[in-house]
Amino acid sequence: MTDPYENLLKKAYTNISEVSTSSERFVVPEAKAYIEGKTTVLENFVEIADKVRRDHDHLMKFLLGELGTSGKIDGNRAIFNGKFEISLIKAIIKNYVDDYVICSECGRPDTKLVKDDRVQLLRCDACGGHRPVRKRKARTEPVEKNLEEGAILDLEIQSLSRRGDGVVKMGRYIIYVANAKPGQQVKVKITRVSGSIVFTERAV
Ligand SMILES: [Zn+2]
Repeated sequence: MTDPYENLLKKAYTNISEVSTSSERFVVPEAKAYIEGKTTVLENFVEIADKVRRDHDHLMKFLLGELGTSGKIDGNRAIFNGKFEISLIKAIIKNYVDDYVICSECGRPDTKLVKDDRVQLLRCDACGGHRPVRKRKARTEPVEKNLEEGAILDLEIQSLSRRGDGVVKMGRYIIYVANAKPGQQVKVKITRVSGSIVFTERAV
């Protein structure tokens, strides 16, 4: 015969752990993207925007700005003009979540974007904290000038391309570094610039 009190306790404990895991497990759906002709299709765009509870147009504008291209929302999908690495799209979505969704005080995603005068703030419903939305330009390397052949750059690899090269997004440029992994610090020399695509070799 089981002790009813023990059962009650067990039940209460189960309920508590269910509540805490569901709120801690905030997982942004992994981007499903593929290249179709001269465009890149982000298949689950709406699913991602809804999960992070942000306006579809707001997320779309951010993606277009970071990719430096045009595009449109088409049903549940987003279509970008141009061929983009899926790892790059994933990195941009991660940046968006870091900047516009996650509370820097408590790490929770229960936030809202609010305007205070002309400053955009991220206000947290979970802890009451708020901070100005980070300006992405200040966080990436301060490169407004054109990247040129022969220039030496110190980079931190952001993501991996489909071919396995390290990728760094800098302004409108996508820089490829062979044999480099995300998070790795590298010094490279630019060997070729083709539009917004930058090829490099390791510099000593
Ligand atoms: Zn918070």
